[in-house]
Amino acid sequence: MRLNGEEIPYQLHRSRRRSLSIQIAHEGYLVLRAPFRMSQKDIDRLIASKAGWITKKLQYVREQHQQVQALPPSWPVLGRLLSLRSSDIKHFRQTADELAFPKKWSGEDLYEKLQSWNDARAREAFPNRFEQVFRHCCSIEARLERYDPEFRLRRMKRSWGNCRGERITLNTELYKYPPELINYVICHEICHLIHKDHGRGFYALQERLYPNWRQAREDLKQLSMQYARISHSSQPNVV
Ligand SMILES: [Zn+2]
Repeated sequence: MRLNGEEIPYQLHRSRRRSLSIQIAHEGYLVLRAPFRMSQKDIDRLIASKAGWITKKLQYVREQHQQVQALPPSWPVLGRLLSLRSSDIKHFRQTADELAFPKKWSGEDLYEKLQSWNDARAREAFPNRFEQVFRHCCSIEARLERYDPEFRLRRMKRSWGNCRGERITLNTELYKYPPELINYVICHEICHLIHKDHGRGFYALQERLYPNWRQAREDLKQLSMQYARISHSSQPNVV
């Protein structure tokens, strides 16, 4: 089909509908749905009457698609930005400053695989870290010793972690962040074992368990804006 001098690929589906619908697929072609009895001439006429809208929309969809196709230059791992490089391998391979990935992965697919890789690493690394931080906190605040918190991991959109009863959940997203910020979130949730709200008692305890918490909170906020852009991920803002 020609529109404003450009040949535009399209798919035509006939069905028992009453009017013509025009959809623009992400790859930049038209999907037309037409009633069985609508003639090609009528379809062409309707398309022509919407040529301006279609051209604009096509351009927008193609630009979006290209942005997604473009490779992300880097990926954050424990607070370090590793360069992404496509390689002749079957799985991710991480070195000191590079994260190599199989050639055939690209676009949105690559992001999802990176995110899953991130979550899997978090599941490997965080239980131990949690245990260590908890023991450290117990050595400062003896009242914590009577707790035996259950530790969980989840990918969360809005929050870094939470503490419900004696169950502490941490966002796997944190694997992208520097270890001291992960420790900060863990300490914060551990404080909630004793103090459920963010009252005076809570802050007094947090001050003892993680004296640098103000800086950490600020760093987490700043970094999350940067990382959300890089890794197309959510930007949690609640601890
Ligand atoms: Zn909190």
